Amino acid sequence: MEIKITKNPNPAAKPTDESQLGFGKVFTDHMLVADWDKGIGWHDFRIEPFAPITIHPASTVLHYGVEIFEGLKAYRTADGKVQMFRPIENAKRLNSSAERLAMPTIDPEVTVECIRKLVEVDAEWVPHNEGTSLYIRPFMFADEEFLGVHGASHYRFMVILSPSGSYYKGGIAPVKIMIEDQDVRAVRGGTGYTKCGGNYAASMRAGERAEAKGYTQVLWLDGVERKYIEEVGAMNIMFKIDGKVVTPALNGSILPGITRKSIIELLHSQGVEVEERQISIDELVAAAESGKLEEVWGCGTAAVVSPVGVLMYMDKEYVINNNVIGPVTQKLYDDLTGIQWGRNEDKLGWVFPVC
Ligand SMILES: *Cc1c(COP(=O)(O)O)cnc(C)c1O
Repeated sequence: MEIKITKNPNPAAKPTDESQLGFGKVFTDHMLVADWDKGIGWHDFRIEPFAPITIHPASTVLHYGVEIFEGLKAYRTADGKVQMFRPIENAKRLNSSAERLAMPTIDPEVTVECIRKLVEVDAEWVPHNEGTSLYIRPFMFADEEFLGVHGASHYRFMVILSPSGSYYKGGIAPVKIMIEDQDVRAVRGGTGYTKCGGNYAASMRAGERAEAKGYTQVLWLDGVERKYIEEVGAMNIMFKIDGKVVTPALNGSILPGITRKSIIELLHSQGVEVEERQISIDELVAAAESGKLEEVWGCGTAAVVSPVGVLMYMDKEYVINNNVIGPVTQKLYDDLTGIQWGRNEDKLGWVFPVC
């Protein structure tokens, strides 16, 4: 597989104040594009100057939401090198999403090479400050020029890059989470386990309601009984209950997070067992009321680990660990970020060098 590179003749000035980067607002000089046509497959992998794309008004994605994406990061190490964290896992999950939406898959090795090459071309855009990274957004969409509802004859795969600031500018602060008891995000048999745009469209209303009440994100319950804990808006959720680490088992409606998987593997390698099972809201409330809910944290690529200080359910607030980060949450954050930014030894072979 060959990637044709057309260099941007007018590279933009890199942001000088990395403390102002924020998330997902600034983009680099190049993007990767590939096309899929029926009977041909994927072809014309190319890196070109970053620019708006044109799309036909009847394009499938605009009407039926046939779109999937991934999210990962490139990190700059102390010696100036650039590395990624388990990108092959993102490439495999992209295919799992593609299969569910009847979209074409891509050889995971090809996806990783596309990402690696693009990050290498724009390596100067990987920021340097503590906690900063280059956010990588691969995505795929159907864009046949036809209003019929069926698998499309043309798809596009793209990768764009966005230098991002530290998630925790003022230090790690616990967040307030609202447990949603009305809207649901996903059901088994649906698309909950995929990173498809439609899942996020369905979550917007609850997210806005939570924000208006002063909560950062929504914690979803299962779509059938609204009884079992699923996950947060863009993070999986973990608890320390009575000395044990527990997290909802993957059941088809929960997104299989790579951070979730890495935490389970990391704790396992340290001799700590993690229970993956159903956790009911009743169990959680009882644990909170009896003081056995010791720690709660969300986990995902953006925040890595995000301590939860307050959970709200049915207008009642439960404060966790006096609203300060707990020792397990802190250690997981230090261990994972240590590997990602190259401060700790990569004992589990998760680091993927870029350049
Ligand atoms: C992306 C995402 C996660 C976290 O996955 P990571 O691979 O750890 O970044 C969790 N839940 C949802 C709904 C997500 O979209």
